[in-house]
Order: sequence, then structure tokens, then C-alpha cells
Amino acid sequence: MLVKYGKAAADVMDIKKNFLEENGRFLEYQNKISAIYQKQKRRRLCKCCMTPLEGKTFVSHDMNYTLCHVCGHLNGEFEETEEFSKQVYEETEYDCFYIDRDRGRYDARVEKIYTPKLNFLLETLGEDAVRSGKILDVGAGSGYFCRACRQKGVNAQGIEISGRQVEYARLMTGTDAVREVEADESMEIIRKTDCNIVTMFGVMESVFNLQEIMGAIKENEAIRYVYFNVPMFSLSVILEAVHPESFNRNLGGAHTHLFSNDSVRWLLNQYHMDITAKWRFGSDMMDMQRFISNQLVMMKNIHLNEIFAAEFQKMIDDLQMVLDRHEFSSETHFIAKKREGEVRG
Ligand SMILES: [Zn+2]
Repeated sequence: MLVKYGKAAADVMDIKKNFLEENGRFLEYQNKISAIYQKQKRRRLCKCCMTPLEGKTFVSHDMNYTLCHVCGHLNGEFEETEEFSKQVYEETEYDCFYIDRDRGRYDARVEKIYTPKLNFLLETLGEDAVRSGKILDVGAGSGYFCRACRQKGVNAQGIEISGRQVEYARLMTGTDAVREVEADESMEIIRKTDCNIVTMFGVMESVFNLQEIMGAIKENEAIRYVYFNVPMFSLSVILEAVHPESFNRNLGGAHTHLFSNDSVRWLLNQYHMDITAKWRFGSDMMDMQRFISNQLVMMKNIHLNEIFAAEFQKMIDDLQMVLDRHEFSSETHFIAKKREGEVRG
């Protein structure tokens, strides 16, 4: 298995700067979504391995969470029903987090966040294998990954249920790289696609029908690889629990459950896939910096905040690397391969 650790914080620092500047607005948004979440039915079984959950492990931002004693998956107290997903993604201003208003920022996001994702795939499977294949990007959003692929001559087509994001992708890329589809239609596309690689970025933690999607991937013999990223149970979650005054980016709002290495393995095993490569990194130290800065600003300790920011900046990547190597950081990219005998040709 190919394993890679770390990613420079500078690549995402500018993009995430507004989390600090607009802490109040983001926190309010999370609370609004949490209020909808709390109206769903109570979760009894682990979202990943379906084992009955026992008691609660901890509280963060007034919500209860339980770590599954079998697979280590972190479960929120309620279920993400179809109704919940609908309300979160269609009826709220979800896009306000991620839409970059101008072309320069769009391209910077492609280059700093999505081209490295493609590079990891090229590194793992080899340039020829990726270039001679085809990628279906599920939940393609505003087309960032498709754009990164097409810039490097890799054949990629995206599907997305948010009409606003598809429209924005068209505006930014000038292509139809991302197609708008209904939720049912997207299942049909996954079942029938002739693409050999399926990618899902920021998808697996957000969908209510994860098992159905994985089942469709398993059924389709043309698909050989699945490449996805998932948020992980990590130090950030603990830091968030002790900073209720700060925006809880990792756990809260629409993000109600988190993966562990074991829960990802468990999920893939159920659909007869094995991990070929993983890339672990995170923004735990960036979150910590944000929480400390936020506190200092609230205490009007502005000068100390400036000193802290300058000093912390110098060592942030080193500190984060310790967490990455100990696999207690906030994100992992996985490339999984279907077991032999379950694919065509
Ligand atoms: Zn479990």
C-alpha cells in the first residue's frame, strides 16, 4: 500500500482565512443545521458497520456523539435522513462556504486543492493507466476536480445534483464537464457508467445513501477503482469540544459522523474492495491556531495574537506532520481497488 503523509498549510490558509474573520456567521449557520438534525430520528446502529451503539462518548457544541466499539466510526445522535440532506443542501445557503466568486480564486482552488488530488492518483496508478481510462466524478460540485483533470489531459466527467453548482461550473470552466442530475438518476449512472475510476470528494460523509452508492459501484463491472476523501476522527474534534465559541468545521452542522481507518476498511471490505493507497493530512493545527486566535481577539489581546500568529506560522507544518504520522489528523484520501475476479477484463 502506498502511504503518504502531510500537505503544506499555506496551500489552504488563504482559502480558510474567512473561517476566522466570519466566525460568528459560520457558527450561526452550523447551529441552524444542527437544529434540523436534532429533529431527525435517533440513531441506534453504527452508520458504518451497523453494530448497535452503546451510550454516548462525548458532547461537542451541545450534540452527543458515540464512537462505535467495533469499527471506531464516530456517530452523531440522529440519522441523516433523506429529508435532512434535502433541507441542508437544497433549502439552505450551503454554497456560501465554498463558492469562489471570481475566476482567479476558482483557478487557485483548482491548482492548490484539486490538482494535488489528481497527482496522487497519477502517482498511485501510473500516468498511462489514468490517461487511458475515464473518470466519473460523483458529486462534482463546482467542477474543480474535472477542471484539474482536463487541464492535464485526463478524461473526466462529473455529475452533480445542485443546479446552482452546475451552472457555476459551466460559468467558470466554459464546458459541460459537470452535468446536473436527479438523485435517482445518479444511481443509474453509477450502475451503468463505462468509466473505470469513480471519484467522490466531500461526498461520502454527506450522502444519506452511502451503502446504496457503494452497492452500485460494486455491481458495475467496468469500475475498477474508487478514489475518495473522508473526514476523520482526529485532534480537531477534541479541540472543537473545548471551544464552543468557535466555528466547528469538522463535527457539527451537516457533518454529523466521522470515519476511522477501521471504519473505512470495514466499509470497503463489505463491497469487496481493498485500499491501494492512502494520503493522510489535516488542518488540526490550523484549527488550533484559529481557536486560540479567536479567544485572544475576544479577550482583546490583539498584540499577543499577532505574536502568536507569527510564531505559530513558522512551525505549523511540522506540528501537523506529527499528527499525520500518528494518524490522528482530520482527513484522508483513499484509493481502493476492487478485488480480482470482480472486474471485467
Ligand atoms: Zn461501527
